[in-house]
Amino acid sequence: LPSLFEPARPVLQKIEQAGFEAYFVGGSVRDTILGDAIHDIDIATSAYPSEIKAIFKKTVDTGIQHGTVMILDHGTGYETTTFRTESGYQDYRRPDQVTFVRSLKDDLKRRDFTINALAMKEDGTIIDLFDGLGDLQRHLIRAVGDPEERFHEDALRMMRAVRFAAKLDFAIDPATQRGIEDHGELLTKIAVERIEVEFSKLLLGINPKRGLDYFLTTDLYLYCPRLQHHYQALVKLSQHQDWSSITNEAEAWLALLYSLQITGQSAISSFMKDWKLSNALISLVQHAMTVLLAIQKDQIKPMMLFNAGRKAILTASQVAEFEELQHPDLLAMNDQLPIHDRHDLAIDGGALIRHASIQPGPLLGKVMNQLLALVVEGKVANEEPALLQEAQDLIEKG
Ligand code: ATP
Ligand code: MG
Repeated sequence: LPSLFEPARPVLQKIEQAGFEAYFVGGSVRDTILGDAIHDIDIATSAYPSEIKAIFKKTVDTGIQHGTVMILDHGTGYETTTFRTESGYQDYRRPDQVTFVRSLKDDLKRRDFTINALAMKEDGTIIDLFDGLGDLQRHLIRAVGDPEERFHEDALRMMRAVRFAAKLDFAIDPATQRGIEDHGELLTKIAVERIEVEFSKLLLGINPKRGLDYFLTTDLYLYCPRLQHHYQALVKLSQHQDWSSITNEAEAWLALLYSLQITGQSAISSFMKDWKLSNALISLVQHAMTVLLAIQKDQIKPMMLFNAGRKAILTASQVAEFEELQHPDLLAMNDQLPIHDRHDLAIDGGALIRHASIQPGPLLGKVMNQLLALVVEGKVANEEPALLQEAQDLIEKG
């Protein structure tokens, strides 16, 4: 078993000794059987939250209404969720009600896909009630139970299907795929933030091409923000063979926007806001797009690198690789700039007022900007006397 499970084993044993069941469940079990690295573990138990709290001295109520309690053991937290069923789903998303149950089977039945519905005992024994092991071998994403019903209950599962296709490089079972084709419109009931999580993970999977192909052939893209009119561009994006340069969200969204030819600063912002992406990510992608367009036009200027900053330059460089655009080592160019921050300038407004007899106001700002550009471009040394001299010349020239 991967080392991440080891320290959790005594926790499961302790729950069992108290007369309850406890299993590892979800992605960590799936990924372990696939031989993939795991990043976190989930534990499911027949014990109710109050019972877990009676067994362990230190716990934190991280989501007690859903049955989740964190057990603190030797400084590590283990999220434990009581077996539950979900019912209601009046609105095609999140259940109206969760009910705690004692049966593992009922808990596994509510899970989305067979490969995500495996449980593993503390000793490594696998419990496989829906032939998830078979589907792992066949590289297949298949809904647990009737796909139509399951997508009616929670339409997000359709996005999860295509994202797992990309994440694992798996096929989607034909009946499950038909379920998506028939119910795509229900996606409009789902909060965009939750769709975005799955779509980002799709673009960052090991085979985004496969996920995008399903995303397009099932028509799911029609029900995502702002993608309706971009079928051709999305097909072209999906045809990229090598996605290894796309390693984080900023690179993924920049690659997407560049493919859709959404490159203007306000167009980027409005698109990304509709996807409910953060202002920090929007700003990074805007800066990176400026650099990427300069790469494309072969018009890289020092001041542009300075304004963009290292992170945006790195993001643009990665997407330039992805797009097979020829470009110099922009990070090295950036590192060689004389300064990297406005505050690194060897003179400030106060000094100009005192020594160059400029009044506070627009002229001062303009001169400061000109000095900054001269230093960044390597035309004037970043030293106070040289900059004062230059300021005087600039003022005389008007
Ligand atoms: P990842 O490695 O990307 O985190 P994961 O399988 O752990 O993959 P999570 O979103 O963390 O995915 O969910 C954990 C588990 O909870 C899933 O494996 C699945 O069993 C269940 N699950 C999550 N979301 C849903 C859903 N919308 N409907 C049904 N079951 C779900
Ligand atoms: Mg997970």
